[in-house]
Amino acid sequence: MNTRRALITGVTGQDGAYLSRFLLGQGYEVYGTTCRHDLARLHSLEVAERVRVVAGDLGDVAKLESILRDVQPDEVYNLAAQSSVAASFADPLLTSEVDALGALRLLEAVRRAAPEARFFQASSGEMFGDTEERPQRETTPFRPGTPYAVAKLFAHGMTVAYRRSHGLFACSGILFNHESPLRGPDFVTRKIARGAARIKKGLEHTLALGKLDVRRDWGFAGDYVRAMWLMLQQRQGDDYVIATGESHTVREFVELAFAHVGLSWEDHVRQDPALFRPADAGELVGDASKARRVLGWQPQVTFAELVAMMVEAELGAP
Ligand code: NAP
Repeated sequence: MNTRRALITGVTGQDGAYLSRFLLGQGYEVYGTTCRHDLARLHSLEVAERVRVVAGDLGDVAKLESILRDVQPDEVYNLAAQSSVAASFADPLLTSEVDALGALRLLEAVRRAAPEARFFQASSGEMFGDTEERPQRETTPFRPGTPYAVAKLFAHGMTVAYRRSHGLFACSGILFNHESPLRGPDFVTRKIARGAARIKKGLEHTLALGKLDVRRDWGFAGDYVRAMWLMLQQRQGDDYVIATGESHTVREFVELAFAHVGLSWEDHVRQDPALFRPADAGELVGDASKARRVLGWQPQVTFAELVAMMVEAELGAP
């Protein structure tokens, strides 16, 4: 049997690294695109030597087509994005250029150059915005309220449209927040884990955060990349909510992180209004029962284990 080939855009990101490790473990040849060529996350999971990294920007459709013609992948995972909700307020144009039009460019390149490839789009639970339905499932109406969520919704809609109108095997994973020690340093979970560890080590004394009452559904990235792969192994393309089904406040994350290092969070954490966002999604909590039923997927790492894993990694950091 021929070795299966996967192409991952945004391979240098958190999910790109975990997905690379997972697919290599399944016997795939893994190709990945990058703009900045920072392979630190691939190195930290010890896969950098085995992933074939090529330069590729979602802004350049001709280059995407040429990569697809060269690689002829069986599966394409679109993970590349400006992935920060906070940064999307500062630069909505760039966010839309990459997250919305970039995804469309890739879909179009797949249609032209590798129409048999199975396509995965990393959509986001943030697309539900301030919807009143709880928990959110595939049929819940989207009410995005941030530039990031609007851009992601465009890409989500295009993925569905390319499946319906062009017959692509295209799947969209409506992914709720997923974290790991490889999370970008500006994301709140990583900030908390790093802050707790640095305060424990005596390197810092306080940690400033935005709103502590924001509720999110946080899972482990390693579990979520398995769901991406499972979607592409089905008989037909479809869309799935991927979530733990539990929501926790930022405050709960903080409490667990500081308790893990034997400190009281109230002594060190302050809420800073300068870090509040112009708009935030309401309580996001996903119902992944379709993924459980159809894909046989469920998360393996609990919230408490995730917090402990992230703080431990920071304690070991220089
Ligand atoms: P990430 O760590 O920020 O990785 C995204 C990668 O995209 C970056 O490493 C960057 O790599 C690449 N990228 C940025 N601009 C690009 C461009 N113009 N062209 C090509 N590549 C570009 O994000 P992640 O947490 O792994 O998330 C993976 C995907 O899932 C993203 O699409 C994200 O929006 C989505 N998602 C994530 C979550 C979550 O909680 N993590 C939840 C829902 C959805 P280079 O700079 O090397 O190119």
